[in-house]
Amino acid sequence: MGRAGSAVAAEERREAVLPGYERLEAEVPVLYTPRLARKTWEARDYLAQGYRMLGQILSVEQPRIIAYLVADEDWKGAPRDNTRPYPPGLPYFTRSVEPPALVLPEELSTVFRPRTAATLPLTVWHELAHAFLLGREVVKTPAWLGEFVAQAASAAVARRVDLPLEEHLSQIDTQPGLTVRGFRGPAGAEDQMSFQNLLLLLGVAALQEFGEGLLQSIFHALWEEDELVDEERAEELLGDALGQGGREWLVSRPEF
Ligand SMILES: [Zn+2]
Repeated sequence: MGRAGSAVAAEERREAVLPGYERLEAEVPVLYTPRLARKTWEARDYLAQGYRMLGQILSVEQPRIIAYLVADEDWKGAPRDNTRPYPPGLPYFTRSVEPPALVLPEELSTVFRPRTAATLPLTVWHELAHAFLLGREVVKTPAWLGEFVAQAASAAVARRVDLPLEEHLSQIDTQPGLTVRGFRGPAGAEDQMSFQNLLLLLGVAALQEFGEGLLQSIFHALWEEDELVDEERAEELLGDALGQGGREWLVSRPEF
């Protein structure tokens, strides 16, 4: 869910070796264990949709990445930035291998809520959006901005491929007792999910109000920033990326 950093030297990077894993060739190739072939095809399709659409939405050349669909029993061997394995069931993006990889679990953790037909594709596109953003150097930003970008991009892919989101969005608690800017880690899984869901609502509302061009603007703005982005600068960058009236709109939103 969070952004991935990487301190691994380039010469140490390589594809992680998971015994018995096969490679499915696609726009985003998938390394998978044969037992999970069906899930792999499903993931491949979502990955291909997201990869194509994000390339178009952002009008950029796609970064070279691969995906791992990791069985529960192999989770500890999955590539990652830290030494300790991550909690099971949480997908993430890592630059600890070359090409950088999106790591998908066999089953999404039960912390992912709401559970609808949109949950898995939105999650895959969210991680893909992180991969696109981190395809170039990015300075540190407040967590909410990096996650907003991933949630809004994921919603934009859903719009492009006509994945209906109404049912999914209607099941989100719109008043979870926190706001996007007020959210501070470390937090429990439930609060993390509430935070992500607020960002999804905010992303959908922003797309409706300002159109998907806001994504190209904010991605490029973040790529061009060369100093640490503080809270004030983050609000400024996003407000400006939204377009005319963006800053006023942003501070008027209940999620924000
Ligand atoms: Zn994320």
